Amino acid sequence: MTEAALFSPDLIRRYDRQGPRYTSYPSADRFENDFSLVRAEAALVARDASRPLSLYFHVPFCQTLCLYCGCHRIPTRRLARGTRYVDFLIDEMELVARHLQGARVATQLHLGGGTPTFLDNHDLERLMLAARRAFSLAPDAQCSIEVDPRSVDESRIVHLASLGFNRLSLGVQDFDSEVQKAINRIQTEAQTLQVLQAARRHGFRSISVDLIYGLPFQTPARFAVTLQKVIAQRPDRIALYNYAHLPERFPAQARMPAAALPSAEQKLTLLGASIATLAAAGYSYIGMDHFALHSDELAQARQNGTLQRNFQGYSTHAECELLGFGVSAIGSVGGSFLQNAKNLDVWESAIASGRLPVARGYTLTEDDVVRSELIQALMCQQVVNLTRLGRRFGIDFWTYFADAQPYLQALADDGLVRLGRDTIEVLPPGRLLIRHVAMAFDGHLAQANAARYSKVI
Ligand code: SF4
Repeated sequence: MTEAALFSPDLIRRYDRQGPRYTSYPSADRFENDFSLVRAEAALVARDASRPLSLYFHVPFCQTLCLYCGCHRIPTRRLARGTRYVDFLIDEMELVARHLQGARVATQLHLGGGTPTFLDNHDLERLMLAARRAFSLAPDAQCSIEVDPRSVDESRIVHLASLGFNRLSLGVQDFDSEVQKAINRIQTEAQTLQVLQAARRHGFRSISVDLIYGLPFQTPARFAVTLQKVIAQRPDRIALYNYAHLPERFPAQARMPAAALPSAEQKLTLLGASIATLAAAGYSYIGMDHFALHSDELAQARQNGTLQRNFQGYSTHAECELLGFGVSAIGSVGGSFLQNAKNLDVWESAIASGRLPVARGYTLTEDDVVRSELIQALMCQQVVNLTRLGRRFGIDFWTYFADAQPYLQALADDGLVRLGRDTIEVLPPGRLLIRHVAMAFDGHLAQANAARYSKVI
């Protein structure tokens, strides 16, 4: 399949509606606010100890506020806040570990934010030592960290490597100075390239660069310059996110010059041109904004059918139970999703009193498990064997999903999917619109507020 077949402007225009990104099913807005601590503890106890762990740490602090950002972050210049935060993270790890039975082998560890590199070397070291104390990090564990090139130099990259980090992602967004000014993220090209090249020299295996299209003052010609500069460095992965302008949810976005935002049509042109450029440079489309070189493990996992999707996007580690640490962090363990308090004081005071800082959660029903597996397969493998799925869950597929049929038929008529007797296959134009295919099987969508979700472009 050529990547060019992905891009169908007419279909994207027609399907340009809000929809969940399905980093989980059900999506996080369905989590219950009255999820009790007893249930959270029970989920940890119910963990399947034969499955390895994936550890996620959320570091919410940022020294400056990028105006486009929709992440959970706390702007501050007081670096000492990082030390206190790590103290609590260490206590939280010990608290969680006490509820886990059996082996605690972790094959994946990820630091996200916010800005994980807001933490200084000493605090990062304390955090990693504590993680190794509370859990047993596998020798070949994937340890990744989101790096802000403005807060890292070569010596810090060396230090990160010495702590065991072997993968990193770099926030770039756009090299254009007018765009950077409008989004309040001034970051020189030299800063970015120095960090990227240092990471290569010091053995980082998978380097990812994050870009955003749809920002103020971006034009296809200007963005092409950024894209070419990034491609010239051959990062293993490139994430190309669509900027979602939702100032009613993220008030800082209102400080950007709205009149300078590209129109939906201009964004479509930006997206089409970017996909063509990436494909020509040897990057294959993984799904939902992610591209990777054919040599990268994500591209290989997509080829051999082992790709998975989780809260960090796409992953090669299907089998893990996920533990989340830090404010707002989400875990997926023992058949439940657990989300920590988003408020720093609430999170701290729970840990200080020896309670899990879980504020929301959701226990999957049998129906959720069926739908979750189906949505995973569509998003990662693009094909589902209906007999096999039906047998696995003791259902007759087309009877069970009778409600989905009219919508699926419409998708098929539009060329997004092919419906066989025994398979549903996502066709190339459907891959870019995959969330709309997944929505056919979302049993929670009727209760959700669609305006909370972002759009395709
Ligand atoms: S984009 Fe990253 S650095 Fe910027 S405010 Fe958001 S989390 Fe912080």
